[in-house]
Amino acid sequence: MDHVEQPEREHAARDGRGRADDETRDLRSGAAAAARRDLAVRAAVEQGVVSPAAPVAGLLDIAGIRASAAALRSAFEAVTPRGTPVLHAFAVKATPLVPVLRLLRAAGIGAEVASPGELALARAAGIAPADTVLDSPAKTPAELRQALALGIAVNADSPQELARVDALIQSAPTSSPLGLRVNSQIGGGSIGALSTATATSKFGVPLRDEGVREWVVQAYLDRPWLTRLHAHSGSQGMPLEMMVRGVAATYELAEEINARVGRRQVDTIDIGGGLAVNFGSDEETPTHAQYARRLKARVPGLLDGRYGLVTEFGRSLLAKHGTLLARVEYTKEAGGRPIAVTHAGVQVATRTVYAPASWPLRIAAYDGEGRPKRGTTVGQDIAGPACFAGDLLAENRPLPPLAPGDHVAALDTGAYYFAQHYSYNSLTRPGVHGFTAYDGEVRFATAREPQTLDAIVAEAGGGPERDALRRL
Ligand SMILES: *Cc1c(COP(=O)(O)O)cnc(C)c1O
Repeated sequence: MDHVEQPEREHAARDGRGRADDETRDLRSGAAAAARRDLAVRAAVEQGVVSPAAPVAGLLDIAGIRASAAALRSAFEAVTPRGTPVLHAFAVKATPLVPVLRLLRAAGIGAEVASPGELALARAAGIAPADTVLDSPAKTPAELRQALALGIAVNADSPQELARVDALIQSAPTSSPLGLRVNSQIGGGSIGALSTATATSKFGVPLRDEGVREWVVQAYLDRPWLTRLHAHSGSQGMPLEMMVRGVAATYELAEEINARVGRRQVDTIDIGGGLAVNFGSDEETPTHAQYARRLKARVPGLLDGRYGLVTEFGRSLLAKHGTLLARVEYTKEAGGRPIAVTHAGVQVATRTVYAPASWPLRIAAYDGEGRPKRGTTVGQDIAGPACFAGDLLAENRPLPPLAPGDHVAALDTGAYYFAQHYSYNSLTRPGVHGFTAYDGEVRFATAREPQTLDAIVAEAGGGPERDALRRL
């Protein structure tokens, strides 16, 4: 118990390089994660974290998150010379919760932010400007000015944005490391909406378009302060090999720029995030260590210590550590299909409901006491509470027959699911609770309180302004 509760950062410092990965492997094994989840579900029901009054909640496995953070750090320590500057900036959009950012910060992880809101969350979490990176294709002058005043790293997304940065740094000096986002146009993955390296992607400067590569080199020749290069080639659905190709293309461009400038002007390469998550089982595959080793084999110059590194992983750090737990309110049958009507639907699993083919989730069945349900399986629809027919977490999924008062869990939902509420039907944001499970004892701490009905009314204009339209 004791050794796990310590921040993993201390582990890494005490035990030396590369060791944290071995130490956390047991914690990260699929069987161990599944066992912790089953304990947490049982305890969540027993302790009233999920109840008739709070019929849906998000659960976060704190030991799992710490283990993944430590494994990410040791993965890149293992392939770079000692002293290579490496910043792992968690993509805040994946799990935009301040307590999660603080937990990651204690584990030595910074923040990648892409909006004023995300920057505010990172600052509220106490993440240092030096550990923060601002990306986004639509930064306003005010956002840019704030980031440059704070000294936060900024990656310009377009020639127009670079021109704004030019003007701003002439009027006020900055300590911000500055870079340019490029799109190597290597192609898309299996999910079009998340593929950022297609020929026509809205992100970055399209390197293969006519004249653009030369424009980029000239942009660096003209700006000695442009010292970083950034690419994020895509998220879920990108094969590892394609991600490696995207990074290789970015590295080759950095080498070309430095050769043309005649000095090591580009000193840091930001490789983005995007490592895919296995939504099919409890195993974590691919791992950050596999990705780092593949980069070492394919792009050795990137990791030989001449460049500082920034990574921006989101989903691969958090997804497998989240469980969305919901009560079954009713069961029914329609057209011969059994349907379990639960409290988890489009408001907490938006992508899965609207794009089920791209985002299938594993569903686990638990009984009224939170014990795993066993027995012969029957194809059932797992429906959410929202008032449209497509509000289904899963269709015709083989599960032990569900009954009112049972529970269903949507697995691997720690990133881009319950932390990102969609307010359809004015359904309240559920609570999010971290848990630890040591020696059979499960403890919870609330990361986000459930939204109240008063808050729903206030956020829907029900405050002092409620007569505004009538008075017009
Ligand atoms: C979304 C995003 C990430 C994180 O992507 P994951 O797939 O969650 O790892 C990183 N960098 C940028 C620029 C992004 O837009």
